[in-house]
Amino acid sequence: AKTLGRSTCVGFTQAMNHDTQQRVELETQLRGAAAAGQLQLLYQPKVSLATGAIVGCEALLRWHHPVLGPVSPARFIPVAEDSGLIVPISDWVLRTACLQARAWADAGLPRTTVAVNISARQLLQQDLAGWTLDMLQETGLAPGLLELELTESLIAQDVEKMIDTFERLKEVGVRLSIDDFGTGYSSLSYLKHFRVDTLKIDQSFVRNMLTQREDETIVRAVIALAHNLQFEVIAEGVETAAHCALLRAHGCDEIQGYYFSPPVPAAEFEALLRGGR
Ligand code: C2E
Ligand code: CA
Ligand code: CA
Ligand code: CA
Repeated sequence: AKTLGRSTCVGFTQAMNHDTQQRVELETQLRGAAAAGQLQLLYQPKVSLATGAIVGCEALLRWHHPVLGPVSPARFIPVAEDSGLIVPISDWVLRTACLQARAWADAGLPRTTVAVNISARQLLQQDLAGWTLDMLQETGLAPGLLELELTESLIAQDVEKMIDTFERLKEVGVRLSIDDFGTGYSSLSYLKHFRVDTLKIDQSFVRNMLTQREDETIVRAVIALAHNLQFEVIAEGVETAAHCALLRAHGCDEIQGYYFSPPVPAAEFEALLRGGR
């Protein structure tokens, strides 16, 4: 039994090695990525449908790997979460985004908020409100210019704790939005406990709303729900003029997507902000 146990264990280890080798390698390389200057934030405009003006942006992380080239956050965020690296990386993201937004405000550019994505694992590991408030103090950014994007499933992890977290953030004026809304399979009743500012309609509904009646119905329902709860609503993944027209017709407040602009480096976002469009 002892031999069998050992060989089973070896077999398992070998299989695991094969599967996780790449992840382990990514993890090792990711560990030094921020210090090596391989991380970058891109900024994607959020545009008011009423005025056509940029009202904010979402900061989206990029990893420029020296050999692999650009690595998608969809690939490395899970690695960062599993390894705990999500904490220092998120720290870098929030600091960089806050400093950037502060620089834009100081330069007298048109007012823009900056939104940062919060990951589930990060929330388990640190005090979100304390961390955010400390970072605002450190960077001197006006709290009203910072927005946090959280998913439904993330909020549902620990509702009591999140209610407290949201209260502390709202107290100073940090903006909160629910990301990928409609994909989290959670009950809607949690919405009445959370004073969020914005619901973000997931891009999967936007992508299909012109061809699938059900998706258009969901988009309309989310817009109505948001407005009845006094939330704003933004649609993401807006790629065409037809998407834009339909969202405007249904009373959506803001859009984000390739139709207006893909995520761009800070200097390009600044040019969009200065020039209008
Ligand atoms: P997300 O928060 O849902 O971000 C929206 C994604 O849609 C981004 O992908 C964006 O580039 C992409 N996108 C924007 N406009 C369009 C469009 O018109 N059409 C299509 N098809 N896609 C569009 P990206 O940048 O690859 O990020 C993927 C995900 O990685 C994000 O999804 C977010 O969950 C995560 N992520 C990105 N940056 C960070 C970060 O700093 N921290 C954490 N924790 N997660 C991040
Ligand atoms: Ca997001
Ligand atoms: Ca999203
Ligand atoms: Ca998403």
